Amino acid sequence: MSAPLIRARQLTRVYRLGGGDVHALRGVDCDIAEGEYVAVMGASGSGKSTFMNMLGALDTPSGGELTIAGQSLLNRSPDDLARFRNEMVGFVFQQFNLLPRTTALDNVALPLLYRGMPASERRERAAACLEMVGLGDRMDHHPSQLSGGQQQRVAIARALANEPRILLADEPTGALDTRTSDDVMDIFDQLNASGITLILVTHEADVGARAKRRIIFRDGLIVEDSK
Ligand code: ADP
Ligand code: MG
Repeated sequence: MSAPLIRARQLTRVYRLGGGDVHALRGVDCDIAEGEYVAVMGASGSGKSTFMNMLGALDTPSGGELTIAGQSLLNRSPDDLARFRNEMVGFVFQQFNLLPRTTALDNVALPLLYRGMPASERRERAAACLEMVGLGDRMDHHPSQLSGGQQQRVAIARALANEPRILLADEPTGALDTRTSDDVMDIFDQLNASGITLILVTHEADVGARAKRRIIFRDGLIVEDSK
């Protein structure tokens, strides 16, 4: 069998605070293969976001091993990690984090700027990503002119702009009502069907049920894995 896309071994993360250490991850072992669709679940404070931030190189482990696409994420320079993030992962958050005075098209095109891509190509790519999430007719709208579900779809399009292999979504439907949440989940299904590895945090059972695998965290450890 080929190596998993993501391989974590005894992964730990300790936050050192004045009042004492917080052990957010206590030794996580986990393999995720390319193309999987994983829901990360568990009570608030169990370490889900910390784990996702490790996978996306937004934060660095305190110990253990973390290898993604054959690259270790430990002891890497900030530049290396930034390059890894740009090439490998897209992020979607509960709050959409769009720039308010900027059109949907420009919100999506922005990450491509860091690649030095010419403006016309950036716009073309951004438009294609917005088409992909069903917002081809909303490109010139500002976030305030869009519903919550539409804003989250813009955020997904932005996450796709760099053609990531891994999409990380932390409570992506947490701020949405049931119907718009279903629309967003339909898009995730399509993206996974097209081959992207999808890892999403949720505490909603019906959202988790759409993933092909569920991993449950408790107190900084994986206590259940449906695989
Ligand atoms: P979840 O996403 O499952 O709700 P988190 O990963 O955000 O949980 O948090 C896990 C634990 O780490 C919690 O006890 C939380 O309070 C703590 N924690 C998270 N981020 C920080 C931080 N930046 N500084 C200190 N403690 C943190
Ligand atoms: Mg969280």
